[in-house]
Amino acid sequence: MNKQDQPLIFEYSRPGRVGYSLPELDVPAEEILDLIPCDYIRQEAPEWPEVSELQIMRHYTALSKRNHGVDSGFYPLGSCTMKYNPKVNEVVARMAGLSHIHPYQDEETVQGAMEMLYRLQTNLAEITGMDEVTLQPAAGAHGEWTGLMIIRAYHEAKGDFNRTKVIVPDSAHGTNPASATVAGFEAVTVKSNEKGIVDLEDLRRVVDENTAALMLTNPNTLGLFEEEIVEMASIVHEAGGKLYYDGANMNAIMGVIRPGDMGFDVVHLNLHKTFTGPHGGGGPGSGPVGVKEDLVKYLPKPVLVKEGDRYTFDYDRPDSIGRVKPFYGNFGINVRAYSYIRTMGDAGLTQVSKDAVLNANYLMKRLEPYFDMPFNQHCKHEFVLSGKRQKKQGVRTLDMAKRLLDFGYHPPTIYFPIIVEECMMIEPTETESKETLDEFADALIQIAKEAETDPEIVQDAPHNTVISRLDETRAARQPVLRYERPKQEA
Ligand SMILES: *Cc1c(COP(=O)(O)O)cnc(C)c1O
Repeated sequence: MNKQDQPLIFEYSRPGRVGYSLPELDVPAEEILDLIPCDYIRQEAPEWPEVSELQIMRHYTALSKRNHGVDSGFYPLGSCTMKYNPKVNEVVARMAGLSHIHPYQDEETVQGAMEMLYRLQTNLAEITGMDEVTLQPAAGAHGEWTGLMIIRAYHEAKGDFNRTKVIVPDSAHGTNPASATVAGFEAVTVKSNEKGIVDLEDLRRVVDENTAALMLTNPNTLGLFEEEIVEMASIVHEAGGKLYYDGANMNAIMGVIRPGDMGFDVVHLNLHKTFTGPHGGGGPGSGPVGVKEDLVKYLPKPVLVKEGDRYTFDYDRPDSIGRVKPFYGNFGINVRAYSYIRTMGDAGLTQVSKDAVLNANYLMKRLEPYFDMPFNQHCKHEFVLSGKRQKKQGVRTLDMAKRLLDFGYHPPTIYFPIIVEECMMIEPTETESKETLDEFADALIQIAKEAETDPEIVQDAPHNTVISRLDETRAARQPVLRYERPKQEA
């Protein structure tokens, strides 16, 4: 069989084949049917594939081998922190006392789970330098939106309804301007200078009495530290605006410096990046938001509080922006993050950041002779290189990214941030060994040499994958929405 031609699971189907048997119903079927409105009861059996357990195991194992994941290979996707998630956190999240509780259970019966969430809130406030944290938001972008709604509530409570603008650097993650827009603000761009950091002159130009907030990450998405952050904070604060910190990639600074100490008023974290919640594929995330004292009363309600030695949800928060997620947020991801923080400890979390920065700088230095490095300085957790030199040979950064697939690597983020021509953004993360970094550097160096000597091999890549280069837009333009079962031959 050609490796391209992996049959669909439906094609293995034969009537009567069984892979899993459900237990006998222990209640009368009619009683259940009585509970469901007639319109929702199906009249015909669904067209599910009928396959054996072995077939289904082999089918999905074969498909999984075509995929990339951190557990199977290096995944240097810039700005995404695709680091290894220790399995002990998975074990903890699956413990029956944590995974079998029900969101409607009485508070008295889940005090342990509430204590864990409370401790996590407290730990995250300490790590970010904020006064209080909510665990409700379900992802980074959701945290951004929540944080901006809090800032809006703060301005409006002062009778200030003219703060309509949120300032975002041109190097920002795409979710920043998107969240600002969804929260009802106008996103205004502030330019970066030739050093890759925010241009102070341009910041002074765009900040005014209509500024609600400046959204920033530091280090920024080019992997560079905004050295003038204290000055930037005072420019925004003096104009009456707030500072929002995008802390998705907190492993750049965790344990070393804190957004709260840099002058930020609101922070979100991505527990599914820095704090080892597995991510990708749109799976559950968690984007806690921390705020400084003057914003605490606007946090989403209910707020998890400790009264004596009892934990409870406080609904009596008249200034709250309201609930942003039902129940306990994405509880399982919060459990993993707590387990991660406890297993690492203070010193461990600080070491994480040091190793993340060391790994990125090591890789950057190894690649420097072969690629243009747009910013000639140390980086933090990630760096951006430019394929300008290779472009002169007719090899685009897209081609080099595709060629990396032939070496078994998930390609890095490319063409982002857009301010760097032909860019590739590499975030090795702290969990990779020197050997892995060297192997990856060797692969990219070979590709740079191929661009000189044999550009076609790069331009036509990938060659060793299950399918060759895809038409990037066809799947979106001509989606296949329904599988048509082939007619079975007699
Ligand atoms: C990943 C990321 C986000 C968005 O987080 P989601 O959980 O995907 O919504 C925002 N900002 C930065 C810098 C990120 O890396």
